[in-house]
Amino acid sequence: MFCRLVREGDHVAKTDGFVAINDINPRADTHLLVLPERHVPSFREVGEFPPDEAKRMLDFVADTAREQGLEDYRVVVNVGEGGGQTVFHLHWHVLGGRVQGLPA
Ligand code: AMP
Repeated sequence: MFCRLVREGDHVAKTDGFVAINDINPRADTHLLVLPERHVPSFREVGEFPPDEAKRMLDFVADTAREQGLEDYRVVVNVGEGGGQTVFHLHWHVLGGRVQGLPA
């Protein structure tokens, strides 16, 4: 396990270096988290990804949303405590359907 968010059975999608899981406390009809296996504490350090890996991460966010049947959706990244981040391993929130509020 590379992050406490990722547990067996939670995965909805996986690709080389990245996983998508269901959020344990969903704020929308569909609420996924997309995470890199590489430990990057927050979006601030996104520059630690080589360019090809950064592109693959963004492609995986879009591919996962599409594969989950989402056409219209929101992608949210909370950055730092002041930005609502509570888990310090970079993750992308993917929110589809009725959204109850920003994830915090
Ligand atoms: P953030 O507040 O942006 O850092 O987002 C952390 C997210 O992780 C929140 O939406 C939580 O509901 C979610 N979360 C916390 N623990 C787990 C877990 N064990 N499995 C799945 N999601 C989790």
